Amino acid sequence: MMKNNDTANDAKLIVISAPSGCGKGTNLARVFEDRDVFYSVSCTTRAPREGEKDGVNYHFLTNERFEEMVKNDEFLEYAGFSDNYYGTPKKPVEENMALGKDAVLEIETKGAFQVKKLREDAVLIFVLPPSIAELDRRLHKRGTEDEETIAKRLSNARGEIEKSVDYDFVIMNDELEDAVRDLETVLESVRAGDGAANRFSPVNEDIKNTIKGVLENA
Ligand code: 5GP
Repeated sequence: MMKNNDTANDAKLIVISAPSGCGKGTNLARVFEDRDVFYSVSCTTRAPREGEKDGVNYHFLTNERFEEMVKNDEFLEYAGFSDNYYGTPKKPVEENMALGKDAVLEIETKGAFQVKKLREDAVLIFVLPPSIAELDRRLHKRGTEDEETIAKRLSNARGEIEKSVDYDFVIMNDELEDAVRDLETVLESVRAGDGAANRFSPVNEDIKNTIKGVLENA
């Protein structure tokens, strides 16, 4: 198991959660392109969407292979989500952090809390959609899922947004440019160890009200 002091350097483990339709697909991850970070490629049992490449977007695995990896303790965390398994391979994260690189995981909430339990110093960042209604619109626009799957994802998103109060930082992805800037502020502040990102903490009443507003605007 990875402990807080396994890395004799200040490499950070950064965990980003964003309800589907609010994260990767909307290019927020481009913040990491210019940074020398390790961006973890997860394993999943779901089928690839059009344009997704094995080993790039995900490692697409069978149930059997995934369960074998669970048995062999090859995951840092894993969770069931929307009828499929998703998990973060442990070894690449540990190897890169041992080299001093920050590692970025884009994972759902159950996995995020597992990581926080393993490493108290992991930085949990939640990316909010402007509203549930907007998330609905984005999922339909993407057009990669049927109605039943979209309904399931929306109800999942609601549950995830409710859990965002337990994250270290919460940012809003309404305008992409603003979200990119806010995510950069959080990352810089974490790196500098200053309080510049405190305004994104859900300890803050403003953020709590923002979360409430997203949930009410269905
Ligand atoms: P999607 O199927 O839309 O690519 O992802 C569904 C959800 O699974 C998203 O919230 C995504 O962040 C999450 N996810 C992706 N990889 C992992 C992983 O390795 N572990 C966990 N726990 N969740 C993941």
